[in-house]
Amino acid sequence: QKPILEVDGLKKYFDIKGGPIGRKVGEVKAVDDVSFTVMEGEILGIVGESGCGKSTTGKSILRLIEPTEGKVKFQDQDITSLTNSEMRRLRKDMQIIFQDPYASLNPRHTVEKIISEPLLVHGMTSAKQRLDRVGELLEVVGLSPYHAKRYPHQFSGGQRQRIGIARALANNPKLVICDEPVSALDVSIQSQILNLMEKLRDEFNLTYIFIAHDLSVVKHISDRIGVMYLGRMVELTEKNKLYDNPKHPYTQALLSAVPLPDPDLPRNRIILKGDVPSPANPPSGCAFHTRCPHAMDICKEVRPAFQPVEDNHFVACHLYK
Ligand code: SF4
Ligand code: MG
Repeated sequence: QKPILEVDGLKKYFDIKGGPIGRKVGEVKAVDDVSFTVMEGEILGIVGESGCGKSTTGKSILRLIEPTEGKVKFQDQDITSLTNSEMRRLRKDMQIIFQDPYASLNPRHTVEKIISEPLLVHGMTSAKQRLDRVGELLEVVGLSPYHAKRYPHQFSGGQRQRIGIARALANNPKLVICDEPVSALDVSIQSQILNLMEKLRDEFNLTYIFIAHDLSVVKHISDRIGVMYLGRMVELTEKNKLYDNPKHPYTQALLSAVPLPDPDLPRNRIILKGDVPSPANPPSGCAFHTRCPHAMDICKEVRPAFQPVEDNHFVACHLYK
């Protein structure tokens, strides 16, 4: 297995403007020095509470928003230095599926038009070819070619996300960033969509970055999982290692809140004090120190490096030196 994506020191800072002339008065460190690698064919889950920077990480990788700093390599090519038009060409291979299928589909366009658009953009000029491809894609995601003439409002939430997936797959991408693709759906529909996505990964050799705020959603589908807190990656390892032996105190707290299959099993729920601090004013040192049950003096001063503590198990925490 070789890496398809290498993210190195990715940062995205947003300016906060204020005052009568809108001067810069501060910045939000939405993504603050995040590094990880995704292997070809794998599903990497990225988990964290809302506002932790996981969506911004996804969008910065695709340069849908420009990163402030850092390198992103896709198939050995540094894409952070590409021009916009070179980048547009490459987006054929790198797609994103959004959380809200309602908002991401143009309500005035038929499904045919919605799915044809990326085909046209990337050079499929024959209308007949496009129509055939739309029918094929609809079948791939479990809809019927007969649905092509309908509009988004004529579909259920789950069906709309299937349309979103069909559009993302139109040009045979290699990497798909899935930004909470099931969070807006009923729980009963979520597993159908997750199963479909897993099937499509196998069928088309896809690689996913699967973003979620809920550890129970990524548990099944991911090969490895990264946990983010306040713009930083705090732990990253294989799924089973993360669930059986979480090392970062934040991961331990998140996992203690995931319902167990057997509710009678004893468990120690770790309740964190306080709320997530503002990313405009993150705590010094380890950003988690204001809430961490194990915080030490050094944690307020020194930012812990994100480093391997075992084979394939990265943690940013001073407890593991
Ligand atoms: Fe807790 Fe310190 Fe580890 Fe941060 S570095 S998670 S504050 S023990
Ligand atoms: Mg988000």
